[in-house]
Amino acid sequence: MDLYEYEARDLLAGHHVPVARGAVAATAAEAEAIARGVGGPVVVKAQVKTGGRGKAGGVRLATTPEEARAHAAAILGMQIKGHHVHRVLVAEAAEIRHEYYVSFLLDRAERRFLALASAEGGMEIEELSRDRPDALARVAIDPAIGVDLDAARQIVAAARLPEPVADVLVKLWNAFVAADATLVEINPLACVADGTIVALDGKVTLDGNADFRHPDHAAFGEDPGREPREVEAQARGLNYVKLDGQVGVIGNGAGLVMSTLDVVAEAGRRHGGVAPANFLDIGGGANAQVMADGLGIIIDDPAVRSVLVNVFGGITACDQVANGIVDALRILGPDASKPLVVRLDGNSVDAGRAILAEAAHPLVTMIDTMDAAADRAAALANAGA
Ligand code: GDP
Ligand code: MN
Repeated sequence: MDLYEYEARDLLAGHHVPVARGAVAATAAEAEAIARGVGGPVVVKAQVKTGGRGKAGGVRLATTPEEARAHAAAILGMQIKGHHVHRVLVAEAAEIRHEYYVSFLLDRAERRFLALASAEGGMEIEELSRDRPDALARVAIDPAIGVDLDAARQIVAAARLPEPVADVLVKLWNAFVAADATLVEINPLACVADGTIVALDGKVTLDGNADFRHPDHAAFGEDPGREPREVEAQARGLNYVKLDGQVGVIGNGAGLVMSTLDVVAEAGRRHGGVAPANFLDIGGGANAQVMADGLGIIIDDPAVRSVLVNVFGGITACDQVANGIVDALRILGPDASKPLVVRLDGNSVDAGRAILAEAAHPLVTMIDTMDAAADRAAALANAGA
């Protein structure tokens, strides 16, 4: 799970990483009050889970509380790379002398942790590693030792950072370990006017597998910016992600769903540029209730114009899935109002197809191959425009 900047900032501050004073606001009036409390110039920052907010106009300096209020009013309600801004962080403005980049991350390929550091912060890491690879130090971290002051000094030396950064790196590492994070990234880590080091922007990704060890992290999931269908799907144990297109996609198994997305995207190019509307993996146990829950969530999305169900029977046989679809359509009744293309294959495929043929639901079209089914679903979505 990725955290908002203000959540990351609180988490890091709890481990004594130096951050700017401030607080989060949901209204312009709150932003003004926070700015008044901070006293002096503040920076008003859009809270969205994407980078490049500065360039998008989502980070603005204000010299007075009234100006902070005006900036907050302009930023709240903005959309940055498709993310709605529901909150702003109002923090004491720093007088930046230098911007650095530092991060710790889990390097899955190398089965260890990695420190990335650069004296050229501010740029996004993707740009930095592409345009200035020599300016980005990569230092492997021995997981048995972690980052003590010696290890931190090696990182500082490798990236030619000033000496006081070492102490911040140790604190950042402590936060990374204590929170079971897979990423902590500070960009920029700034050297400010009085020579101290301050983390001005933080990104933290927590390892969901460790959630059980952190009951306090549950609050991070309560998110006003979160897609309501994702919240509902999660409550029902479904793996659902909202996307931008018009074709609802249901499959069993993440691999199959991902390849289905590709095939739908490809078919969409032939049919007026329609695209997948979501990712929904019903997993192994596709019984009627799971299917009804999944279909219900997808049909309820006004962007969806057709639905593709792509199931490869394995442990869950196709006849169970077919019964699940028939029951789901009965449970949904008149709420099921969008055309459904169903492709079944694998275990008990003949029995599954026979069940759907027998039910002969007017909204359901059965198609035997994934490509042809995706093509039909895309065509139906395009026709329903
Ligand atoms: P991002 O664009 O989403 O990465 O947002 P950041 O929080 O990193 O802010 C973008 C840029 O705004 C930073 O690289 C800084 O140059 C600038 N910025 C952020 N906070 C401050 C601040 O307190 N004072 C000043 N002068 N600039 C800031
Ligand atoms: Mn940044």
